[in-house]
Amino acid sequence: MTPGWGAPRAGYQLALAIALADDVGFDEIWETLVADGGETDLLMALGAQARLMARTAATGTGTPFEVPGEAWERIACADVRDFAQAAYTGGSARIPVNPCPNCLRMAAEMLAELQLAAMDAAGLPREWLAELIARTRARTPDRPHTTPPDAGRPSQPPAHSDH
Ligand SMILES: [Zn+2]
Repeated sequence: MTPGWGAPRAGYQLALAIALADDVGFDEIWETLVADGGETDLLMALGAQARLMARTAATGTGTPFEVPGEAWERIACADVRDFAQAAYTGGSARIPVNPCPNCLRMAAEMLAELQLAAMDAAGLPREWLAELIARTRARTPDRPHTTPPDAGRPSQPPAHSDH
């Protein structure tokens, strides 16, 4: 894979896919990652993102964010679990050698969910993910997100603007 490849962006995309319950979208992003061999980079990016959100929750709202104790247990293989946990805590762990694909995926899911939970704790709206994705997108030809055309409202100015 090429350096500068968008692991952080993929991390936000996975989190957004989970937030939207978009299983197909999640699969697509994941399969692309696997094809590129970018799983461990993604886990590191996701861990850092979740950590940042958790810190935002703690400093911004004074709500300490705690990872549910059993959350890590969802990752069955110890090497992947240790790696994912270190990605979140900012500690160091060995990059798993020949990690089991199921656990890599579970770790990505778990860290993305952690990121969402920490976002909630920080009081950040889910829409913010789209914002982050747009920001991490390397030079893009498509437009920045625009407000959808206002279908419900008539376009003429209000009849009485005096009050
Ligand atoms: Zn496993």
